[in-house]
Amino acid sequence: MRHLHQDRNRQQTVAVYNADYRVLTHVSWQEAIRLLLRGSVYVIERHSPAVHIHSPSTIVELPVSVALREYVHIPYRPGNRVTRQGVLARDGFTCAYCGGRADTIDHVIPRSRGGQDSWENCVAACAPCNGRKDNRTPGEAGMRLLWEPYEPRERARYRVPALA
Ligand SMILES: [Zn+2]
Repeated sequence: MRHLHQDRNRQQTVAVYNADYRVLTHVSWQEAIRLLLRGSVYVIERHSPAVHIHSPSTIVELPVSVALREYVHIPYRPGNRVTRQGVLARDGFTCAYCGGRADTIDHVIPRSRGGQDSWENCVAACAPCNGRKDNRTPGEAGMRLLWEPYEPRERARYRVPALA
C-alpha cells in the first residue's frame, strides 16, 4: 500500500519546460491540467502506463512534463546551457538512433574524442543504443542519427502566459 501511495505522490507535480527546453518550474497536476486545457502548454512526456484524470466534463491524460508554447523571459540568463533534461525534452524522450524511448543522453562525438558538451553534440538515446555506440562516432558504430541535434532558440515573442 505504501508503494501505491508513493507512486501517487510522485505523479502530483508536473515539470514545466520553458520554450527553450530548460526546466522553468514544477506545478501541481491540477495546474498542469488547467494550462493544458487553456492551450498554454503542450505535452512532452506521458506516464507509462497512462494516468487519466476524470473531471465532470472531460477526461485528460496526466502528463509527466509539459512545455510552454511561448517563451517566458527570465531577466538573468547565463547562456543557454545544455542539460540532460533539456536534451531529453528537446528530443521528446525519443532515441535519436532507433526512435525508441530514451532516458539517457549520448555525445555524438564522444567526450573522450574531443566532443563538446553542446546542444549540437548531444542527443537523447535509449540505454541499449548508448551502450552499443560506446566510445565511437555514429559512423564507426554503423549507426545513423534520425535527426540533426540543434540548439533550441528563444521564441521571437516574449508573451508571458498566466503561470500561477
Ligand atoms: Zn535506441
